[in-house]
Amino acid sequence: MISRHGPPAEPGAPASVGRSATGRSGRAVGPAAAGDRCPACGEDALKGSRPEWTLRCGSCGLWRSSLGSRDGRLLDQGCLDEGRRAAGLKPLRERNNETVLDAIAGIRGIRGLRILDVGSGHGWFVDAAARRGAEAEGIEPDPGVAARAVESGRTVTVGYFPEALPEGATYDVICFNDVLEHIVDVGSALAACRERLRPGGLLAVSVPDADGTLFRAASLLRLAGWTGPWERLWQAGYPSPHVSYFDETTLRRLAAGSGFAFVTSRSLATLTLRGLWQRLHMDRPVSPASCLLAAALVVARILLLALPADQSLFVFRPGAADPATPGGADRPAPA
Ligand SMILES: [Zn+2]
Repeated sequence: MISRHGPPAEPGAPASVGRSATGRSGRAVGPAAAGDRCPACGEDALKGSRPEWTLRCGSCGLWRSSLGSRDGRLLDQGCLDEGRRAAGLKPLRERNNETVLDAIAGIRGIRGLRILDVGSGHGWFVDAAARRGAEAEGIEPDPGVAARAVESGRTVTVGYFPEALPEGATYDVICFNDVLEHIVDVGSALAACRERLRPGGLLAVSVPDADGTLFRAASLLRLAGWTGPWERLWQAGYPSPHVSYFDETTLRRLAAGSGFAFVTSRSLATLTLRGLWQRLHMDRPVSPASCLLAAALVVARILLLALPADQSLFVFRPGAADPATPGGADRPAPA
């Protein structure tokens, strides 16, 4: 099944609720600015930082950026080599997809569940879920990428979440795999998940983690004046940059505000040797500097396994947040 709505978008990343001009609060949706309301804690506490597009909530600590577009859709900037991007990301995503599915299976099993992958891109997660017996489908705003996924036999709706979904469609599990951090109006996105989840449903969110080692290192470097790693982590200059950077505390606050209770979390892999070369060169040519960076990351990868992960999975269910468990469940390290 395929349906078409909306303009092209970067595959996999920017599925968005951004068509309307106002968000859940009734305020204009657009790039975050100092003094804006924080979507996680609700305080008017976003403050500017360095570089100038960086913002942080003075109340709960959520990181935001002003890199997003006014309507939550793609920016006309950047030049990614989609072939290298896909080749670079696939080994990492396939490994993490199995961790996400393991976590869901540990809560309620997989076989027979209707699972929606928001921003499904090339359909790798849909494939992985279907192999385990789920009735899996995706929603993807890039018609070209979605069409190729459909040609391969996957069920994908073309368009933005949730407006392009079939009317009345509901799901046992809704997944955001590396997508929520691109969405400007995250509160509306999670509110839509509440409406689309069946009783006993689960919301699975994998995101870059602001408690991660690389994020913290890049933050220190930017304060020292070297902003390159910080810009790369936020995907500044890409068609769909990051507009939020969550950690466990801020994501749980955001989810609680949309009526979700925390269930469990997992650390996910950040780097895989396979695909690393293509990931490094999806937006730049091969150079002595890029070769040095590749060598450094190969060595650093071993060290990173023992340090806080830069990618994490959080699973929620509809219901009141439990104030007695603010620290969350155990977080097994990636294998
Ligand atoms: Zn806040």
